[in-house]
Amino acid sequence: MSRYIPLSEEICFSIRLFSRVSTDKANAMADEPRTLLDAHILIVDDDAAIRDSMQEFVQMSGFSSASAACAEDALEMLQTEPVDVVITDIMLPGMDGLELTDRIRKNFEVDVIVMTGYSGDYSYEEAISKGASDFVFKPVRFEELLLRLRRVLKERRLTQERIQMLEKLKRLSITDGLTKLYNSRYFYNQLKIEIDRTTRYQRPLSLLLLDIDNFKEYNDTYGHLEGDKILVRLGQVIKSCLRKMDSAYRYGGEEFTVILPETEGDEAATVAERIRSAVETEHFYPQKEDDPVAITISIGVTEFTWQEEIALFVQRADKAMYQSKQAGRNRVSCLFTSKS
Ligand code: GH3
Ligand code: MG
Ligand code: MG
Repeated sequence: MSRYIPLSEEICFSIRLFSRVSTDKANAMADEPRTLLDAHILIVDDDAAIRDSMQEFVQMSGFSSASAACAEDALEMLQTEPVDVVITDIMLPGMDGLELTDRIRKNFEVDVIVMTGYSGDYSYEEAISKGASDFVFKPVRFEELLLRLRRVLKERRLTQERIQMLEKLKRLSITDGLTKLYNSRYFYNQLKIEIDRTTRYQRPLSLLLLDIDNFKEYNDTYGHLEGDKILVRLGQVIKSCLRKMDSAYRYGGEEFTVILPETEGDEAATVAERIRSAVETEHFYPQKEDDPVAITISIGVTEFTWQEEIALFVQRADKAMYQSKQAGRNRVSCLFTSKS
């Protein structure tokens, strides 16, 4: 039983008052953004009457809710229920509301509103320092709680939107706009990471560099937009030939790279051959053409040599690719150093 609110009658009275205006409220709340009303609220209080009154209030306000009689039950429910906000009493049997707030903030993406007494062992500062998003004094005034709940939910939505926006920006900054493969900036980033890993664990690492054959001629004949379609399709074909741990990048105009971790040179050559052959058998129908037009690619394969510079590694793949061009295109050439 909470020390601060033996005030169930008062709360029930507030609920009755609230019910009288609830039709107006419901109409007004029809304008609330859906994400706010979609919120799921968990009420934690050891007083069953308060718990029930709060649940009724929260549900009448348009939210879905659940309740728990102690912090331990609340933590268990949080494992399975998608809760947005916990409204918890501070005084609870067993773990108190502050400890609960602390655990929630450390382990879940859930906001906490703490209910606290005016004169008690706990302070507003303590609640906030444990990560509470807001607090209400007991006896709880529902109008005030609703305002605070809405404010917390709005901030929560804004934070989620900010996170999504940052994730989107990050995705855009590493993605090639046309092919949706990773871009060359991300290629160098990832290659560095893979080289570090390879150096630390002494594991093999291979690299492919792919270049479309006579692509200028294709553009000149069918137009740049048709050329773009080839780039998009080739990105898909390359990806379809790779394992989960491999990654493909648009390195430049009509050049692609593939990083193959845990892969020795001869295995890499097999992957390269698979890609070359898959591209060769693709059918492209640029505008006004009834018959399919063939596209081929030249590929260079190399394996990382212990402690070499990243630039040397990439240059060797490039050299191998040029060997393929010089040997007549549509082929795979390997260039390994004696140490690799
Ligand atoms: P090679 O077999 O020697 O590689 O001949 P190539 O014609 O493919 O090589 P070159 O370097 O002479 O020309 C590359 C062409 O790639 C020229 C350019 O128009 C085209 N290209 C580069 N980026 C894009 C792009 O984003 N879209 C399209 N459609 N074409 C591109
Ligand atoms: Mg090129
Ligand atoms: Mg080319």
